[in-house]
Amino acid sequence: MPDVFIALGSNLDQPLKQVEQACRSLHTLQHSEFIARSSWYRSKAVGPGEQDDYINGVCQLRTHLAPLDLLDALQNIEAQQHRKRLQRWGPRTLDLDILLYGTERLALPRLQVPHPRMYERNFVLYPLYELTGDIPLPAESGLPKSVGLESLLSKVDDSGLQRLSD
Ligand code: ATP
Ligand code: CA
Ligand code: CA
Repeated sequence: MPDVFIALGSNLDQPLKQVEQACRSLHTLQHSEFIARSSWYRSKAVGPGEQDDYINGVCQLRTHLAPLDLLDALQNIEAQQHRKRLQRWGPRTLDLDILLYGTERLALPRLQVPHPRMYERNFVLYPLYELTGDIPLPAESGLPKSVGLESLLSKVDDSGLQRLSD
């Protein structure tokens, strides 16, 4: 079963409760085994306009679900938690992104893996590193080689990011 890493984020309607509820749903995901979750982090919103802070974290699962079936399941969890798509990168109750699906690279209309914008997002890289240490990641599209997580971390700083104690 491939290891998959899922990024969780929320900045609406009690964000910490939202990500904790999503994490409980991930514990019971069909055909899957929950492995671990990172600490939660508070991060500054990067989307349009004035937005409340986000709570972010990463969960690790092993799954028999095919990538698009996993995406469907995650979008069902988002819908259960009343995710509405009003504005790109706007406030949301819950966002679940597939960061990594084993070592696969996918460039489907509905699913790009590794998540193409994870490389410069400190609120993704820091929690991922907690779970994996310095793993190689497939390089961003256009670049042929893999890239180490630690070297990506050295390029982003931790500005706007605060690790929360449990
Ligand atoms: P970003 O992708 O920059 O983090 P977002 O999470 O706000 O932005 P959404 O509105 O949640 O974007 O998702 C838009 C679409 O992205 C989804 O409907 C989904 O089909 C697609 N998508 C592509 N790759 C992925 C992935 N790795 N994980 C989750 N969704 C993905
Ligand atoms: Ca996202
Ligand atoms: Ca998303």
